[in-house]
Amino acid sequence: MSVFAQPDFASHEQVVFAADAATGLKAILAIHDTRRGPALGGCRYWAYGDEDAAIRDALRLSHGMTYKAAVADLPLGGGKSVILAPPGGDPGAKPDGLMAAMGRAVDRLGGRYIIAEDVGTSPADMAEIARETGHVVGLAPEDGGRGDPSPVTARGIFAGLRAAVAYRTGKDDLTGLTVAVQGLGHVGRALCGLLHEAGAGLVVTDLREAAVAEAVESLGARAADPHAILSEPVDVLAPCALGAVIDDTSVARLRAGIVAGAANNQLAEARHGLALRERGILYAPDYVLNAGGLIHVAADHFRHDADWVAGRLDGIAATLTEIFRRADRDGVATSAAADRLAEDRLREADAAALAA
Ligand code: NAD
Repeated sequence: MSVFAQPDFASHEQVVFAADAATGLKAILAIHDTRRGPALGGCRYWAYGDEDAAIRDALRLSHGMTYKAAVADLPLGGGKSVILAPPGGDPGAKPDGLMAAMGRAVDRLGGRYIIAEDVGTSPADMAEIARETGHVVGLAPEDGGRGDPSPVTARGIFAGLRAAVAYRTGKDDLTGLTVAVQGLGHVGRALCGLLHEAGAGLVVTDLREAAVAEAVESLGARAADPHAILSEPVDVLAPCALGAVIDDTSVARLRAGIVAGAANNQLAEARHGLALRERGILYAPDYVLNAGGLIHVAADHFRHDADWVAGRLDGIAATLTEIFRRADRDGVATSAAADRLAEDRLREADAAALAA
């Protein structure tokens, strides 16, 4: 398929194809929108089946970053990059110089795109990129960065989850509520800790049995089967593992009144946002709720302090409440209300640019 025919291409400002013969680099750097600021987004290292799949991923993900940054009210736009890994390529064993070549490709964009880590890339990769360009975030503390964003993401999820409970029940208190957490990775486990401290009961699952055993032991969580977690009779379901968990089958089986978790792209299709609404389930749109990671790297880029981060995490809760209200007022899915808020903010950026 031609790039221009890709459904996600139309709104992109710039898409760059970068290659480096010496290292075998083949990369796509997609800048979706810079009206609100430079395009920040992670770099995925992935063995795509074909080039179309890589282009589609870069376009789709960069578009999503624009919306995430706009709703989080950060002075950032949306971008994303993908490096085409060889089939079976081990993310831990990239060719020598590959990330430096990627750094030069980023540098040639003159700051319109700021790169960060994503699936298949690491803080060490960002350190290699940083030798070639200043337009990089997500370095380890020993390299001058702020390290893993996951604890901050978890704090944002927690704040948003509480706002969802307050909106639904009028109670700003999680004591006695039960939350099912799918996925006990970096974010899911940290979220469980915060929920436990706040007095919530936990039902947990993971493909890693040791992670489940640890949560049962240290947090008094109840273990659930990975196949059954979505239909657990709980107050809140927090998907913190995979995307596309909300589909026709799971919508019908859900027994939670609220869905609020970290995973990106939880709705298999946009229409599932409405399906949740029709079932009376309050959905906290994923990219609104999981913006803590972006807030963390934005703080790194703009040199903001911990108070600024805390304020922005509180902002997640306030924005979500506003989205819930707008969705109810307009009778639309919360996911649609979130998109509309992002689009309003992008139009405001246009208007401000015209007025300047
Ligand atoms: P992670 O890889 O550390 O954890 C994912 C966990 O999910 C792993 O423990 C894995 O074993 C488990 N898992 C995978 N498939 C599963 C299944 N079918 N059933 C149960 N468990 C399963 O990832 P993470 O950094 O914790 O991120 C979790 C999600 O949140 C991802 O979707 C990620 O894109 C999203 N997210 C993460 C951040 C961040 O700061 N890390 C920010 C925004 C969004």
